[in-house]
Amino acid sequence: MKRNLQITIFLILPFLSLSQINKSSDIVTTKKHSPKYALFYDNHIMPPNPDVGANFDVESFTDRLVKAGVDYLTVHARSNQGMTFFDTKIGIKYPSLKYDLFGKIADACKRKGIALTAYMNGGLSHEEGLRNRDWLIIEPDGRVYREPRVTAWVRNMCFNTPYREHTISLIEEVANNYPVAGFFIDGVNARPCVCPACAKGMKEKNMDVNNMDDILEFARESSLSFAKDIAKAARAINPNFLLYFNGISYKDQVEFGAYLELEYIPTSQGYDAFPVFMSYLRTLGDMPVLLMNTRFNNWRHFGGLRTETALKAELLSGLANGMRPNVGGHFHPKYGPFNAALERVGKVYNELQVMEPWFSEAKNLADVAVVFKGENVRGDRKLNAAVRMLGELKQQFDVVSTTSDWSKYKVLVIPDDVPFDREFTKRIKTHINAGKAIISSGSSGLNPEGTEFVFENEWGVKYLGENDFNPAFFAAGDNFNRNLPDMPIQLFSTGVNVKPLPGTRVEADLVKPYYNNIWDGEYAYEYCPPDKVTEFPALTVNGRIAHFSHRIFAGYYAQAHVELRNIFRNVLLELLPEPLLKYENLPSFARVYVTEQPGRRMIHVISYVPEKRGAVAEMIEEPIILNNIKLSLRTDEKTPKKVYLAPGMKPLAYKVNNGYVNITLPESKGHSLIVLEH
Ligand SMILES: [Zn+2]
Repeated sequence: MKRNLQITIFLILPFLSLSQINKSSDIVTTKKHSPKYALFYDNHIMPPNPDVGANFDVESFTDRLVKAGVDYLTVHARSNQGMTFFDTKIGIKYPSLKYDLFGKIADACKRKGIALTAYMNGGLSHEEGLRNRDWLIIEPDGRVYREPRVTAWVRNMCFNTPYREHTISLIEEVANNYPVAGFFIDGVNARPCVCPACAKGMKEKNMDVNNMDDILEFARESSLSFAKDIAKAARAINPNFLLYFNGISYKDQVEFGAYLELEYIPTSQGYDAFPVFMSYLRTLGDMPVLLMNTRFNNWRHFGGLRTETALKAELLSGLANGMRPNVGGHFHPKYGPFNAALERVGKVYNELQVMEPWFSEAKNLADVAVVFKGENVRGDRKLNAAVRMLGELKQQFDVVSTTSDWSKYKVLVIPDDVPFDREFTKRIKTHINAGKAIISSGSSGLNPEGTEFVFENEWGVKYLGENDFNPAFFAAGDNFNRNLPDMPIQLFSTGVNVKPLPGTRVEADLVKPYYNNIWDGEYAYEYCPPDKVTEFPALTVNGRIAHFSHRIFAGYYAQAHVELRNIFRNVLLELLPEPLLKYENLPSFARVYVTEQPGRRMIHVISYVPEKRGAVAEMIEEPIILNNIKLSLRTDEKTPKKVYLAPGMKPLAYKVNNGYVNITLPESKGHSLIVLEH
């Protein structure tokens, strides 16, 4: 291999200057980098900004990166303003930047062992758009500018114009001239466009330029082919480039990207959906997953600095789920990074790095999978609620679509409204045939037409139609009423009516209200107390399959009614009596993750409570101290020889009985890492 490379270099020698030879040989020998502690810097400086880079001390900056243990850095080659930070023959360099800032950073990173990725915005390039109006998107309503006007998205680039070749040339220019490890191409979103180039393209594909569905589909295909063309051009220069295309779906990304990345800002999004992504992205394939949170609440907040605890809590949760840290920040146009901000992130990184031996390549263990349809986990409330319930119950689980294998899971949770198409039917059949358990709710399990359960005999119920109780209540029988109050419990959701087949156990009954929550012309029926138990079941169990008539996950999302989680837990523990992890004396907000490396298993106990403050969705300021936590980890025939707390290696007393290792953790301050070596 090495000899071949030398021959290649020798052959191209006569055509290159000496400085180019050095650069090219470096690039050819670059191995694919696997990011560990990454940093991402935005630098969308306005084109007329004076003094760009004038006081940017690249040596001091990169020294600080080394101190922070950063091995992977993303900085701008071209900003979303369409201006470059490098000396370009093709693009437009910031006029007030008097030297090659990108090149200087690339050179320092190379000397200091930091892999550098070049950022370019694919969808936005304002200065180039200003100078080349025929490269811009024309919205379906004919506008070129979008509202509101003062956003980065006021003007968008069309991927079917000469802008495509132009951008690819710029990427090639960077790839050929600088020792980069890869490219982060931002904003490759499918934006509907009816410009002459897109209209022509649509006609060639027999698509209707007046039909919005066709326009959207064409836009999706255009963004995909743009990303694929970039990947092809970049890989022709270096097959080991790390490539990421922000805006392309995770599923498509797996095909031609090189890693996955979750950009997540809890102060605006809240923490709710975060664990959905943590449990889902790792199932898509064997590729690095980065968690990009930010040092500020919003990408426009140059002076914002989030608490050390919040940064640490998020990165710890990510690392305990296989996601590598990548904190986003900003450069100041003149001075580069704010040292105080870099210091805060560096302090957190240094605290995390002492646990790196137990993070590195660790894989999460899971008994349970939450199954969902499609590939877009963003904003799915039922999924959020199912993930929240399982997290509060300290269950070990993944979130899966049909992209990944389901064979390792003992229980499938199929929340609320997942119809079974052919692929689902095949997979569910395999799961049932293996004697494994299923918990479904609402209309999950119906055929795509919504007329009957695909596995009617296995589910043990006949579908009768949507239920019309508003509100609906349930009353659980003796088998599943542990920790439930003895009263009709509100479901806070809609559901379906089912009729149990012979042999099916009815474990909870539906209770109807005196009247539904309606206006009848005279009265507004606002007060609707429970009336009678009906003939309809609220919970049925047939063999290893339990079905809730109502959409209990939507109900939990709507009202966080803990009794819904309690009955779900009772059902889950019936079907999974020996879960991977059991616990005592842990509050609902604590999360526990179990990971594995060759020769050992790890338990992460994480306790931070997000708080809503004013207009901020959620934030964290201090860790929560927990005491006297009792944990039991199933041995799975991996009986430990040594149990200790990392990183201090302090031994922990433990007992093994009935297939579990029982450990008491005297105190945990935000995070504890228990290691069981076998
Ligand atoms: Zn177009």
